Order: sequence, then C-alpha cells, then structure tokens
Amino acid sequence: MTTVVLMGPPGAGKGTHAELLAGKLGVPVVSTGDIFRAQVAAGTELGRTAQGYLDAGEYVPDEVTNAMVCDRLAADDARPGFLLDGYPRTLDQAAVLDKLLTDQGRVLDAAVVLLVDQEDLVRRLLHRAKIEHRSDDTEDVIRRRLQVYADQTVPLVSLYGERDLLHEVDGTGDVAEVRERILAVACAIQP
Ligand code: AMP
Repeated sequence: MTTVVLMGPPGAGKGTHAELLAGKLGVPVVSTGDIFRAQVAAGTELGRTAQGYLDAGEYVPDEVTNAMVCDRLAADDARPGFLLDGYPRTLDQAAVLDKLLTDQGRVLDAAVVLLVDQEDLVRRLLHRAKIEHRSDDTEDVIRRRLQVYADQTVPLVSLYGERDLLHEVDGTGDVAEVRERILAVACAIQP
C-alpha cells in the first residue's frame, strides 16, 4: 500500500509525470485539477462552484476540495494506495489528508516536489495556453496561480521536509531527463 503526494507549482510538469510515477508504484492518479475541470465541463453543481475559482487562479475552498477528495479516495481502486496530484495544497488540506490516512490505518509514504524556476514556469504555461486553451493559462492568471502556490502551498513543502517525507526532483530540462529522475524517485520510495 503506497500513498504519495506529488507537488510543484503550476507548469512544473505534475500532469506530465504523474502517470509514470503512479504506474511504477502500482496506484491510480487522483488529480484534483483534472476532477475539477471534468466537473466544470459536465456542468455539475460542483463544477459551477469551482469554475470561478479556476478561472481566477484561486484555490477552490478547502471544504469543497476536501469533501471531493474524501469521496474519491473511498473508491475501490484507491484501496492499494494512490498518487495525489495537486492535493493537498493548503495546511488545512494536509491536516484532512493526515486524518483520512490515520482513519484508514495508513501513513503518507512520500511527498515528491517538482522544482522549476519561476520565469521558466511562466514560459511553459504561456506555451501550454496556445495548445490547450485552458481558461487559467493567461499571463495574469498564471502569475496569480504562482503567487497562490508560494503563499499557500510552499509551507507544505517545509512541513513534509520536517517529516522527512520530501523527495525533491529537478523539473528543468527535457521531458526524458525529468522522467529518469522520476523513475529514480519511484525506486527510492518503493525499492
Ligand atoms: P491544477 O491542474 O492542479 O493546476 O489545478 C487547476 C486549478 O484547480 C487550481 O488553480 C485550483 O483552482 C483548482 N485546484 C486543484 N487542486 C486544488 C486543491 N487541492 N485545492 C484547491 N483548489 C485546487
């Protein structure tokens, strides 16, 4: 049973590398960003609640996000463990995840963080905007998302560091290079 969180600022490559890491660990990816986007596309009540936050580059409120994740992690496929992509992102979410894991008799095995410098991130996200047409990939919103990450999520990196769970991965360079680094981390987590 393996439970891992994948962290990193927007544009660091979480979505690109999550499947590889999860595949190596034999667990499903649970991406909160993907779930929110799917809910927005389907026009559900959750999607309508989330849309304004996504478009503005703000975090969806903790109580909404936590409830959605708790539901998702109760599904059968999450029984062998999971790789959380983009959750937790706030200290409140980290506390909810700790409690959820404790209630299930589990522990968090690792927190993997992808590191990429800020201007590189802006460049990557503007490039992605041209290809994917995401509503939150305009320059203003990109800068806001990076600021929200710095304010609300970077403290979690320190928290997991203090707990000795942190695996920092250099996210610069081409995709193949980062893949190699991710594979090395997968081996370190689950030898
Ligand atoms: P992502 O695809 O992970 O960059 O997420 C896209 C957007 O979804 C974020 O900018 C937030 O608006 C929302 N979101 C994703 N995960 C979370 C989370 N853990 N807490 C709050 N909002 C989130």
